[in-house]
Amino acid sequence: MRTIRDVDVAGRRVLVRVDFNVPLDEQGRVTDDRRIRESLPTVLDLVHRGAVVVLMSHLGRPGGRVVEELRMAPVGERLSQLLGRPVRVLPDCVGPEVEAAVAQMQPGEVALLENLRFHPGEEANDPEFAAALARLGDVYVNDAFGTAHRAHASTVGVARHLPAVAGLLMEKEIRYLSRLLHNPEHPFVAVLGGKKVSDKIGVLHNLLERVDAVLVGGGMAYTFLKAAGYPVGRSVVEEDKVDLARALVERARARGVEFLLPEDVVVAERPAADAPRRVVPAHEIPEGWMGLDIGPATARRFTEVIRGARLVVWNGPMGVFEVEPFAEGTRAVAEAVTRCPGTKVVGGGDTAAAVEQFGLLERFDHVSTGGGATLEFLEGKELPGIRVLQDD
Ligand code: ADP
Ligand code: MG
Repeated sequence: MRTIRDVDVAGRRVLVRVDFNVPLDEQGRVTDDRRIRESLPTVLDLVHRGAVVVLMSHLGRPGGRVVEELRMAPVGERLSQLLGRPVRVLPDCVGPEVEAAVAQMQPGEVALLENLRFHPGEEANDPEFAAALARLGDVYVNDAFGTAHRAHASTVGVARHLPAVAGLLMEKEIRYLSRLLHNPEHPFVAVLGGKKVSDKIGVLHNLLERVDAVLVGGGMAYTFLKAAGYPVGRSVVEEDKVDLARALVERARARGVEFLLPEDVVVAERPAADAPRRVVPAHEIPEGWMGLDIGPATARRFTEVIRGARLVVWNGPMGVFEVEPFAEGTRAVAEAVTRCPGTKVVGGGDTAAAVEQFGLLERFDHVSTGGGATLEFLEGKELPGIRVLQDD
């Protein structure tokens, strides 16, 4: 796959698909700018090499029409602060006015197009819309790993019209995530959690063929505990996935993969900081209570397994970490992973948020910017936004 390093960009218009789909608060301010920060190496490289840099992204789900609250202006402002140079936010993402504005730009200047999803042609991968986008560049760069699982005009369609290469973030995402699937180092440990088993089945399936140990926490653990025949009280359980959970455990056993479930859990009557809570053995969850975090014995056991790993992938919080009393298990796992000597890769939007909340972001080798894209990649699927960069 070619990257921006392989193309001459000086004085050329470089159209870059970035993933600036960041969370905004009620006042329209960016509350988490990590995806913007992660794009800086690509943007700065292009700026320093004298490209005319035209950035494009979607923001939220406007559904093909203009939604005032989802304009790119606050994103452009934050990008400008981070870059330390002006960023011109254009009033639309296609059309003669935008083309004229881009034609006026000087080498090293940066513009940000308006929200791509204000046009229905974006998600429909409409050929005319893709052609209109392509008129804004001489070279196309995809640095939006988080949107690479979508075949949209800005991720797939536009690549038919221009030389298409990967940005530095896209390259880094693929490099680290590929290491989990191809010739991984051993011991290779997967730590899986999060809300639902159903979201992670494909990943678990694919990783079971590669890992030495799987540590399961979070909400998904209760479907496995139920499959083992234990009472789970009011914990989150996907009844229709209980049989599948049992089959996955069988599969792990057949492959000689160590498969660890929580041995103790923190239970409460509801997921609130002021609710009464206690630690109980995982096979004795009292009726009416819900499991909201892994317990201290489980955290110690998981830490021991992680300690010896040469490669760790972690996806999914160990508990309801957003509520402080249930964040301990996730924090313990985060710290254990950062201390292990191996390569440490994190995936999942909420897991990344937890890691950032603990101030540990820099201590991982890679914290993926993708949610669904990361899961699909780890399931072994080919992502359309990556495929078009390889055809060339
Ligand atoms: P990611 O985005 O990292 O892939 P998920 O979206 O799968 O992670 O899951 C994150 C969510 O799972 C968090 O909001 C967290 O509160 C929730 N969660 C974790 N453990 C539990 C639990 N025991 N019960 C209910 N929800 C849980
Ligand atoms: Mg999530």
